[in-house]
Amino acid sequence: MSSRDLKDFQVAFRVKVEDLLKACKSAKLRVKLTDGLRSFAEQDELYAQGRTKPGKVVTMAKGGQSIHQFGLAADFCFLTSKGEATWDGDWRLFGKMVRGVGLEWGGDWKKFVDRPHAQLRGWTWQKAAKLWPEGWKPPCG
Ligand SMILES: [Zn+2]
Repeated sequence: MSSRDLKDFQVAFRVKVEDLLKACKSAKLRVKLTDGLRSFAEQDELYAQGRTKPGKVVTMAKGGQSIHQFGLAADFCFLTSKGEATWDGDWRLFGKMVRGVGLEWGGDWKKFVDRPHAQLRGWTWQKAAKLWPEGWKPPCG
């Protein structure tokens, strides 16, 4: 389980996520944050899925190799009219919203298309790992 708390994001990313949530609300697109800040261990767990554990492959990144470890990425899903999580929705519109607030959308990637994913532009995990080798630790309180 990763954190869904907006406070755990780095501020530069958090303000854009807030913009994104507002934009989706205005467009009547019901979305929900499913994954935010993820520890190295949580990422390793996710990486095992579809490889050494059952399920389908959902990530190409091992612990420390995802922007999620640095508080600069978030994953979303849609909500049905009953408020249930679904991954069946208008991803094109969502992608437009993500780009609209100036974030990078995983749906635009060529190698591994990751439509639920949005991250701060101009970052790679390699760049983030130089600044925060242990991952991003949100300030307490
Ligand atoms: Zn993601």
